[in-house]
Amino acid sequence: MVVSPKITKIEVTTFEHQLENVGKDYNTFNTVYEKGGALTQRGTVLQIHTDMGITGEYPGVGGPALAQIQHASEYLIGKDALEREKIYQDLKRGLRHWDMTGIGPIDICLWDIAGKLFDAPLYRLLGGTRKPLPAYASTLHGDENGGLSTPEQFADFAEQCYEMGYKSFKIHGWGLGGQRIQREIDNVLNMGQRVGDRMNLLIDPACEYENFAQALAVGRACDEANFFWYEDPYKDGGVSQFAHKKLRQMIKTPILQTEHIRFLEQHVDFIVAESTDYVRAGAHEDGGITGTMKIAAATEGFGLDVELHGPGPVHRHIMSSIRNTNFFELGLVHPLVKSTRSPFYGGGYNDDLDGIDSDGNVFAPEGPGIGVPLDWDWINAHKVDGGILAEA
Ligand SMILES: [Mg+2]
Repeated sequence: MVVSPKITKIEVTTFEHQLENVGKDYNTFNTVYEKGGALTQRGTVLQIHTDMGITGEYPGVGGPALAQIQHASEYLIGKDALEREKIYQDLKRGLRHWDMTGIGPIDICLWDIAGKLFDAPLYRLLGGTRKPLPAYASTLHGDENGGLSTPEQFADFAEQCYEMGYKSFKIHGWGLGGQRIQREIDNVLNMGQRVGDRMNLLIDPACEYENFAQALAVGRACDEANFFWYEDPYKDGGVSQFAHKKLRQMIKTPILQTEHIRFLEQHVDFIVAESTDYVRAGAHEDGGITGTMKIAAATEGFGLDVELHGPGPVHRHIMSSIRNTNFFELGLVHPLVKSTRSPFYGGGYNDDLDGIDSDGNVFAPEGPGIGVPLDWDWINAHKVDGGILAEA
């Protein structure tokens, strides 16, 4: 018998939570360490209910995605929850005027439904193998508050991470390109001297350097310090194919672009333009598991590796199901900040600094679907908004 769970209801629950010992830096977009500081984190859980009594749930919905889910909710009612490909294609057209980040949580919920229906974790549905996933410690941005405020403090933290089991470490620096680019260069060179003989070193300026010349200067330092990759250096926003092809011609360090372009077609265009070495993709940004698997396969077809953006159980499942990838991004971490995440997952799931085993690895969850229970007591205790977006 062919099973066909029909979507009956789209529901959201928005919560707020205070993160401790963090604040904002000079540009208000970077979260950084600040002793005694507090930031309100807001998030939304999406639930897609079906007529078979199975509900897909995903807690990683941000504001712009929520607006798009609202826009798409009427369309989803009555659809077969297993027809992910049709829904992906329809939503890609329906949301084409926006950044399309609404598609990711919807697609992930549909995969969660499938996993619960067939009583299998997602990596099993994807044909994967549960295996060690090497994690890198991905830092909070550098701060001016005595946490990660000097190259020495960054290197001390890298050594701490190495002692914990991490084999790889990623700097998110201070930015302030024009005035302080030398500090970024010093950080790269010092890191190479202190831990370069035993850790894979990565740096992500998160598009904060002012111009191409500064991107090139730090890239040349990465060459000297033998960095593993150099990611999104400057204020083109990470999207210029011409500039990054040029940068690749001028430095030796592999670059990682495509975090800030969307979906399969733009990724393939970027690869064909010879504008990146490693290929960035993410289930939030690139159309969920369906979209990310397409990019992973396209990348494999070019003989290249895909690197998933950010942590979470969904990326653990995807990473367990593809060959051409290297690292799990565990972050954002800091020596003096306990967590930068709201604790909506139960079941002991952990993407904080101590979430690795002694060899620096993480593993995919083993429960059905996403495979990690949501802590609904916590979510409801922190609920500030929500309701039904559409219903049959
Ligand atoms: Mg990045």
